[in-house]
Amino acid sequence: MRDITRDHQDLPVVIIGAGPVGLAAAAHVREWGLTALVLEAGDTVAAAIREWGHTRLFSPWRYNIDAAARRLLEATGWQEPDLEELPTGHELVDEYLAPLAAALGDVVRTGVRVVAVSRQDMDKTRGHNRATTPFLVRVARTDGSFDDLPARSVIDASGTWAQHNPLGRSGLPAPGETEAAASGLITQPLPAVTGADRERFAGRHILVVGAGHSAANTLLDLADLAREVPQTRISWAVRSADVSRVYGGEDRDELAARGALGSRLRALVESEVVDVHTSFTITGFEAAGGRLRVLANGTTGSEELTVDLLVPATGFRPDLSMLTELRLELDPAVEAPRRLGPLIDPEFHSCGSVEPHGESVLSHPDAGFYIVGMKSYGRAPTFLMATGYEQVRSIAAALAGDRAAADEVHLDLPETGVCSTDLGGSCDAPVEPQLVTVGAPAPTSCC
Ligand SMILES: Cc1cc2nc3c(=O)[nH]c(=O)nc-3n(C[C@H](O)[C@H](O)[C@H](O)COP(=O)(O)OP(=O)(O)OC[C@H]3O[C@@H](n4cnc5c(N)ncnc54)[C@H](O)[C@@H]3O)c2cc1C
Repeated sequence: MRDITRDHQDLPVVIIGAGPVGLAAAAHVREWGLTALVLEAGDTVAAAIREWGHTRLFSPWRYNIDAAARRLLEATGWQEPDLEELPTGHELVDEYLAPLAAALGDVVRTGVRVVAVSRQDMDKTRGHNRATTPFLVRVARTDGSFDDLPARSVIDASGTWAQHNPLGRSGLPAPGETEAAASGLITQPLPAVTGADRERFAGRHILVVGAGHSAANTLLDLADLAREVPQTRISWAVRSADVSRVYGGEDRDELAARGALGSRLRALVESEVVDVHTSFTITGFEAAGGRLRVLANGTTGSEELTVDLLVPATGFRPDLSMLTELRLELDPAVEAPRRLGPLIDPEFHSCGSVEPHGESVLSHPDAGFYIVGMKSYGRAPTFLMATGYEQVRSIAAALAGDRAAADEVHLDLPETGVCSTDLGGSCDAPVEPQLVTVGAPAPTSCC
């Protein structure tokens, strides 16, 4: 079958988002001699990571640097960081992503938000010659004007940071949630409680809602703040009946920092500094004299908690609204590409490992369009950058016409050592990192 990648070689591969996976995609596309164009909505590259830049990553540098990006950077005299160190988000940007964007040059454009992707002169219902028709990428500039850009292929690496899961039940915002967020009583996820946002949190009563790494990080930061400002009160609400699954693999986690996060959280909860509310399902919010009244169904029936601020840590979901004119095939539960969904669905498989996957697993009926990176995991929480780097290596090889390179997918991912629906998988024991080739028998699922 003819496809657009051969018919429109003069057009760029448009990459949406200049996070670690989007920039890695550009490095791979460039290595194959194709033209990349990276469109980033923020004023700077890695705008999403900068928002949680005060948070330290749990994976060391050696898992965070893409191979093609490294080759490009090394040619500029870049100094590689200590591979065993854990960078903060800001360090990841300053020491790796910003130099990478500079090395890629003017193919990386900031302040350009993609608002829609379609095929040129074709809506979703038109099938004739669809695969050989260029994509149309509609972008909104900061001054409000629009541009339609042609593309031979589109790689959506726009992440999920901008859309956190609602706090209410049934996957929906609770009554009063939108208003509480608009008035600032509900903050953004992962605020810098001991840094830039300190004054907002010091001496206040803070409720953290959710069960995952973000909740653990925020609770531990709040505990640091409470040591300095003892009037600070910390409450933690989760939907589950107990919080032990949030501790994850602890010393069985192959990423020591991720395991340590769980252990520190366990110690914090056992020290009773945090007031824990389990089986807590939020049913509504009311403003109460500058404070927030949180209404919920709890273990003993209706509960009510009045706090100064609420920090959501309920995970993220993909914004698919700009893709409505494309023919996509998504997993109905996880909202990941259909063939990837079952490999990462936290109900069945959440060990932090994932079977090797590349271009063929990530493709859609609209040939030449891909969702990669954090967004490719849809609502599943276990994405690691290293997974995204392998995704885009495989896609770039396929776009360049090297099917064998596209299909030879390697993965070397650390395991959590235990499964839960948020902090990681349900394996009973950690397994060795695997090097697997697509086409070989799939590794036995550990869950
Ligand atoms: C607090 C935290 C800690 C994490 N720690 C680790 C870790 O230790 N190790 C690890 O491997 N992973 C970690 N992750 C998970 C994941 O690897 C990161 O979230 C990573 O940033 C995902 O990269 P990405 O390129 O897919 O998306 P992002 O980094 O979110 O980048 C997406 C980019 O797209 C831009 N964008 C969004 N919409 C548009 C649009 N419409 N048009 C143009 N641009 C757009 C955004 O501004 C952003 O710059 C962590 C995640 C979080 C939130």
